[in-house]
Amino acid sequence: MSLAFDDYGRPFIILREQGSKSRVRGTEAVKANILAAKTVARTLRSSLGPKGMDKMLQSPDGDVTITNDGATILEQMEVQHQIGKLLVELSKSQDHEIGDGTTGVVVLAGSLLEQAESLLDMGIHPLRIAEGYEMACKVATAHLDSIATKWDFSPEEVEPLVQTCMTTLSSKVVGRLKRQMAEICVKAVLAVADLPRRDVNLDLIKVEGKVGGAMEDTRLVEGIVIDKDFSHPQMPKELKDVKIAILTCPFEAPKPKTKHKVDIDTVEKFESLRHAEQQYFIDMVQKCKDAGAGLIICQWGFEDEANHLLMHHNLPAIRWVGGVEIELLAMATGARIVPRFEELSPDKLGFAKCVREVGYGTTKERSIIIEGCPNLSAVTIWVRGGNRMVLDEVRRSLHDALCVARNLVRDNSIVYGGGSAEIACSLAVEAAADKVVGVEQYAMRAFADALEAVPLALAENSGLPSIESLTAVKARQLAESNPHLGIDCNDVGTNDMREQNVFETLIGKRQQMFLATQVCKMILKIDDIIQPSQYD
Ligand code: ADP
Repeated sequence: MSLAFDDYGRPFIILREQGSKSRVRGTEAVKANILAAKTVARTLRSSLGPKGMDKMLQSPDGDVTITNDGATILEQMEVQHQIGKLLVELSKSQDHEIGDGTTGVVVLAGSLLEQAESLLDMGIHPLRIAEGYEMACKVATAHLDSIATKWDFSPEEVEPLVQTCMTTLSSKVVGRLKRQMAEICVKAVLAVADLPRRDVNLDLIKVEGKVGGAMEDTRLVEGIVIDKDFSHPQMPKELKDVKIAILTCPFEAPKPKTKHKVDIDTVEKFESLRHAEQQYFIDMVQKCKDAGAGLIICQWGFEDEANHLLMHHNLPAIRWVGGVEIELLAMATGARIVPRFEELSPDKLGFAKCVREVGYGTTKERSIIIEGCPNLSAVTIWVRGGNRMVLDEVRRSLHDALCVARNLVRDNSIVYGGGSAEIACSLAVEAAADKVVGVEQYAMRAFADALEAVPLALAENSGLPSIESLTAVKARQLAESNPHLGIDCNDVGTNDMREQNVFETLIGKRQQMFLATQVCKMILKIDDIIQPSQYD
């Protein structure tokens, strides 16, 4: 910083840009980055697996989230460090592509970087490490393909899908109810799946919920749930085989747009005005009845008079239904959205097998459930839970399970979990490293060691002696040439993950390895960090 004067003698200050920046170069830079990434990865390590712990995160405005989902933890941690942010992105991209395995991918990346650190100490150039990792990743994913098995399922035989979803759910808050939840998810996915094209549009599955009740009350609604109630408390709470009119015009007497004044100076005039208004409402209700509607769904509100008349004429109604829901309802029930009462006709009505209102305990909150719609491919998973935090976590867990089921519909190859796939790949990479002549073989061996971080963390989190468990399983895999042996986290009594029914999707596992390797390569290639000095 220096002081200078302009042509008129006015002082000004020159700030030197470069002076206020700090710079780290070479191996020091790579190591600083590795340290940051390792710190982030270490946070997630204890959350991995069926016995993984949850994290409690508080946002600046006091909102509390309790979760076991890697992507959510990292997102809410608000990581400041640039390299830390890369790991957050890593977990996010696993979430976007696959939906599950978000903790595993970060643990693997952290471990790869940790191994790279010791290679740097040995004097190996970061680029050679990156190349070695790339080669090892190819060997590992090829080996994954070779140990993967195809699990055929059909709409009648969905057990393979249920079992794989159960593996995902076993580490979540819903672990206790994993079969019930897995069945719900599989049913939901199959309801919207296009099996011949092997495609699933997850947008058609809504995961909604209300605080209250128990997790056991979570269920699949083959229809739409809206957060509304019938407009009059005395209207029937359940309607069967009902024709629905969807209106975007209010049940109100018309109001002139310009200012007006009505002089009423006699009782007769007042009576006739009131009568005219009432007649207006009666006409509206009659038009709906004439069209054959058994239920009115209206985007706007009703006047009390109209509400009373609707009730009186046995015409149940729901008011203030939002635009998006109106469109979804119109599509599902086959109704046309009617903007004027004059346009109501029988062919514009939609149909639903059952429309009912449900309440929640002693609260005034109500929901309307519309089921059995002719054109419906959308389904809703209606989640219940004791408090908002549980509810949110159940929704996140179900999202993971839905993604797993979708992935299996797309590609029904699976590998076995519990760290067995990682150990098998680690052995394959180690064997391949022996055949490599260059320094890359060190990096490949390091990759093999890094893969073991997953079974190690699983064993550690389950309270098992980690190194002993890993070496025992590894020795057995080699001796028995059985790639299905993993860590017995739940103390079932067998290490064979095929017998324990612990499965993961092949594409999920493959993606984990690809993404983790990619991020490591990226971090290893950075050899110069220039940043403003206030971040020192
Ligand atoms: P992620 O967010 O990465 O899916 P999880 O906390 O769900 O992380 O843990 C997944 C890991 O736990 C996988 O490696 C999976 O194989 C393993 N796992 C899940 N259930 C079991 C089980 N019953 N026994 C052993 N390992 C399991």
